[in-house]
Amino acid sequence: MTIINKEDFITSLRDALQYIACYHPPDFIRAMHEAWQREASPAARDAMAQILVNSRMCAEGRRPICQDTGIVNVFLKVGMGIRWESDTGIDAMVNTAVHAAYTDPDNPLRASVVTDPAGSRINTGDNTPAIVHMDIVPGDRLEVTVAAKGGGSENKSRFAVLNPAADLVEWVLQQVPAMGAGWCPPGILGIGIGGTAEKAMLLAKESLLEPVTIHELLARGPASRLEELRLELYDRVNALGIGAQGLGGLTTVLDVKLRDYPTHAASKPVALIPNCAATRHLHFTLDGSGPVKLQPPRLADWPEITLAATESTRRVQLDGLTHTDISQWRPGETLLLSGRMLTGRDAAHKRIVELLDRGEPLPDGLDFSGRFIYYVGPVDPVRNEVVGPAGPTTATRMDPYTDTMLERTGLLGMIGKAERGPQAIAAIARHRSVYLIATGGAAYLVSRAIRAARVVAFPELGMEAVYEFEVEDMPVTVAVDCRGDSVHASGPREWRMRIGKIPVVTG
Ligand code: SF4
Repeated sequence: MTIINKEDFITSLRDALQYIACYHPPDFIRAMHEAWQREASPAARDAMAQILVNSRMCAEGRRPICQDTGIVNVFLKVGMGIRWESDTGIDAMVNTAVHAAYTDPDNPLRASVVTDPAGSRINTGDNTPAIVHMDIVPGDRLEVTVAAKGGGSENKSRFAVLNPAADLVEWVLQQVPAMGAGWCPPGILGIGIGGTAEKAMLLAKESLLEPVTIHELLARGPASRLEELRLELYDRVNALGIGAQGLGGLTTVLDVKLRDYPTHAASKPVALIPNCAATRHLHFTLDGSGPVKLQPPRLADWPEITLAATESTRRVQLDGLTHTDISQWRPGETLLLSGRMLTGRDAAHKRIVELLDRGEPLPDGLDFSGRFIYYVGPVDPVRNEVVGPAGPTTATRMDPYTDTMLERTGLLGMIGKAERGPQAIAAIARHRSVYLIATGGAAYLVSRAIRAARVVAFPELGMEAVYEFEVEDMPVTVAVDCRGDSVHASGPREWRMRIGKIPVVTG
């Protein structure tokens, strides 16, 4: 009989969570590097380069890959020959590990989990509770797979019950363009087919925990119907031309994973869950001999890539910028920003718009006129950092506030990630504003451009407080220009046409 000791389990899980926050899996790095080498779209190639450089910096500095350090998913295969030596249940042990990992003073991870999701949405402060799945299996080992799933990619999950005769590939090809770029492609699609509604979702999630192996499958050819489907999906999703960060390009997915399960004769449940540029998961085994010992990966596994400004890169001084200045910028153009900007995301926008609607003044010192706002919720700093990893959050969540912010605060422009919706694009064009994107999943890299940070308003909101950042050469791309032209529309359209496998519908 194998005895699994409570402390060994908690220590192993805590260490695994710290590990995956900072180290991409080597198969993911290899696949991203190969995609970067193949990429022909300059904007997408630059975004992938930033993701790879960020990844290496995080491995060197042991800091989180992304500011969103995810909600913890734990999958346990508990051997029937195990006896637990613990005075608490498994969920409680998992949550003790999550608490310890996310509040580690040497490398604090951002707490993103809120309680009362349909109401007050109060942050639990330590990223608990985790989502735990357990199987009881033959054997005397404990198999643990742990993942930290970012909100941007989890939010793009899809589910449907198709007619049994319906085509899964067509369904996926309808879903992926509608998912936009908020899941920070290129990444991996996990697809579950069959079972019941909840089983299909679980199959999709579990499939994402497998390594990236599409290159082996391409080399040896399919040996089953599922492998044929996988290759077809890989080819046709990439032919959509969405590209890294939705900028248009050759690689939207690094792999497609499929799992299936028998289902009711009347049903064909299908689930799709994407994994993003911050793909984070790890598998380990406990056999009763003590906690798992995780070795840091070899830096030689990361490619050496240098980010260099090109002749066409525009350097922008944010202080004193005018509508005339920003009217020169065009979709897809790369900028290096220097100067001061304000930050804010969901909770701050809600507060600001509520104050404006009540006719009340904004807090002292909070003045958006002529300024840019960066949609970000950074990780807490450590040691000599001014701010922890601070990549952009999905901008579409701020769409309902955009017209009010532009109309009533004098805000000049916005920085976030992924596309804007029609309502926000109309507001940007009406106010002759502009929307820029930073690379999602390159959070540590972005944070190195931040030279100073101070809280300006709503300190009680924690990572959602409004900060003023002073930045130097922060890399961004123009996503929506002052006429309302969006690179997230034109880029994928252009690259879908160039790839030429899927017709482009215009009008
Ligand atoms: S890479 Fe993008 S989707 Fe993934 S956790 Fe980071 S911000 Fe969220």
